[in-house]
Amino acid sequence: MDIENIESSDIKNFQIVIASKNIHKIREIKTILHELLPNLDILSLIDFPEYKPLEETGASFEENASLKAEYAAKTLGRWVISDDSGLIVPALEGSPGIYSARYAGDKATDADNRKKLLSNLSKLSDKDRYAYFECCIALASPEKLIKCVCAKCEGRIEYQEKGGEGFGYDPLFVKHDYNKTFSELKESVKNKISHRRKALDKILLTLESIISSS
Ligand code: IMP
Repeated sequence: MDIENIESSDIKNFQIVIASKNIHKIREIKTILHELLPNLDILSLIDFPEYKPLEETGASFEENASLKAEYAAKTLGRWVISDDSGLIVPALEGSPGIYSARYAGDKATDADNRKKLLSNLSKLSDKDRYAYFECCIALASPEKLIKCVCAKCEGRIEYQEKGGEGFGYDPLFVKHDYNKTFSELKESVKNKISHRRKALDKILLTLESIISSS
């Protein structure tokens, strides 16, 4: 079947596992994928309680996303999609970067990480509050890594936390051309403009063509 001629209703009974136990990421990815491919059957690592995730040893989001997808797909014998993402503040030499989840230490909570970020930025000037999220999404079959794509969402870091939605650095991040943090926006709005949405859009054609030929 030609990729151009595929309708989302052609896509049925294809199962894919999100290689994550992070309920926020899973929820966002599921919501976005359901909108793009309504009949896709989506599981996550929460459905495989015995699964032991791979340690994240890569030097970039791309490397970590690829390693996670390849390993989970091989171990589970299933198609897998993975997400590796984080916040980059160029004025802080790219921190928190690939260490976004554990910026304030191995056992740090999201609130601890945000507190450390605000403290480090308080010594810098306004223009140094420029930041962006990056998300890399990898797709793997049980045999091999198929593709990894990445996307960014640029903005700035607020002076204090605002809003009650989302997770991670959402209460501090204001996207360019917006005046509310990701946490103040409805989840449905974040899911249209986020780094995660842009990366999933980029992998959509590949996913559709694989599903249709399976
Ligand atoms: P990972 O599970 O190693 O990819 O860590 C991702 C970390 O980056 C999360 O724990 C958050 O701190 C941060 N992060 C990634 N995406 C987002 C987002 O959409 N909003 C807020 N924080 C995010």
